[in-house]
Amino acid sequence: MYYYIRFSEQVKKALIDHTMKDPTKECGGFLYGKTWRTENGVMCDIDAIYYEDRKGTHNRFCFDQIYMRNAYKAGWKMEDSSFLGTYHSHAQLPAKLSDIDRDSLIKYFGMGRIMLVYSPKYNRMVAEYVDVDKKTHKVKIITKK
Ligand SMILES: [Zn+2]
Repeated sequence: MYYYIRFSEQVKKALIDHTMKDPTKECGGFLYGKTWRTENGVMCDIDAIYYEDRKGTHNRFCFDQIYMRNAYKAGWKMEDSSFLGTYHSHAQLPAKLSDIDRDSLIKYFGMGRIMLVYSPKYNRMVAEYVDVDKKTHKVKIITKK
């Protein structure tokens, strides 16, 4: 199985710019777009993000209920995009999902969701996808030309 996230340059830049506002603190936001099953995997087209000015600590960011509710609402207003998952920054740590990250993805957002992590310090982005088997799968991130 092959899992892909496809970004436009513009949306990818907006996400990185958000994490760079204060690169010493973690922050997070939400991803929207379309997702579909291909012959041998899943493709996620990200075409919008939503975030509020909320900061975590140097090594932690939590999506609270109010933030999540606002994000779902933002998604309802989008015509062609639906809620696909979340992103958060790892500030000064490498871009690598922790077990806490994976547990919270499954617990709060369920299956068929993406979790993306960006590290401002290492300028690196990684993502995983929770499939219907409830397992997380590594995702290849590509940019739309
Ligand atoms: Zn994390």
